[in-house]
Amino acid sequence: MVEHLANTEVNSQRIAAVESCFGASGQPLALPGRVLLGEGVLTKECRKKAKPRVFFLFNDILVYGSIVLSRRRYRSQRIIPLEEVTLEPLPETLQAKNRWMIRTAKKSFAVSAASATERQEWVSHIEECVRRQLRATGRPPSTEHAAPWIPDKATDICMRCTQTRFSALTRRHHCRQCGFVVCAECSRARFLLPRLSPKPLRVCSLCYRELAAQQRAGAGEDDAGEGPPAGAGSGASSGEDEDDSEDDKEGSGDSDWPSRVKFYAAGVSWSSFHS
Ligand SMILES: [Zn+2]
Ligand SMILES: [Zn+2]
Repeated sequence: MVEHLANTEVNSQRIAAVESCFGASGQPLALPGRVLLGEGVLTKECRKKAKPRVFFLFNDILVYGSIVLSRRRYRSQRIIPLEEVTLEPLPETLQAKNRWMIRTAKKSFAVSAASATERQEWVSHIEECVRRQLRATGRPPSTEHAAPWIPDKATDICMRCTQTRFSALTRRHHCRQCGFVVCAECSRARFLLPRLSPKPLRVCSLCYRELAAQQRAGAGEDDAGEGPPAGAGSGASSGEDEDDSEDDKEGSGDSDWPSRVKFYAAGVSWSSFHS
């Protein structure tokens, strides 16, 4: 499948080109046996709006970043190990067609491609790489996934109390457990969600009750009665609210970047990849 590309000059050059576009802000990407299989621009649904992001599919990781200057400069690099990834189809919305969800334990988000064919290419290539990674590592497919954040625009009122109306002064918060948009009053509690962060995170009142109950049930099974539940806590958080994720911070005018996808192995070896 991709082995024939692994030690080729062209593969090294492609990876070096990606590294150079991210510059010092990115991680080194070249590894023995790692192959860059394809790249392209997808629209990622972020908290405040959908934004173009450049994606690179390697045989073991998916890398994406924001576009400063097309084909020259990228930043805010994120690296997702493919063995953690599951994909899920999403229905089209008024704003976006050809959507799907990329789920991992730490973060889940929706992306869309410019055409149905592009979507099919991405999904089948990613899924094939995930299968191969799982087979190679002997790991079971991952089952724990972060809840995707409901976009801010999806609601004007708190999704828990349905009373609080958001405004310039009354800001939206996101529950890290369910991804709902909630008011400050409904998300006072913090809970330790180890797969997301070493620090307790903002959760909504409903999730807090459920998580605390699960924790009590777990502690009961262990016959452990000592001390308060370690993960539970309310009031002051040890970590500041990170609602304003990296995704929302840049203001580059890259919205007219043409979406396209390029799978290097297409034509020559992609069909054999699937064999
Ligand atoms: Zn509320
Ligand atoms: Zn919640």
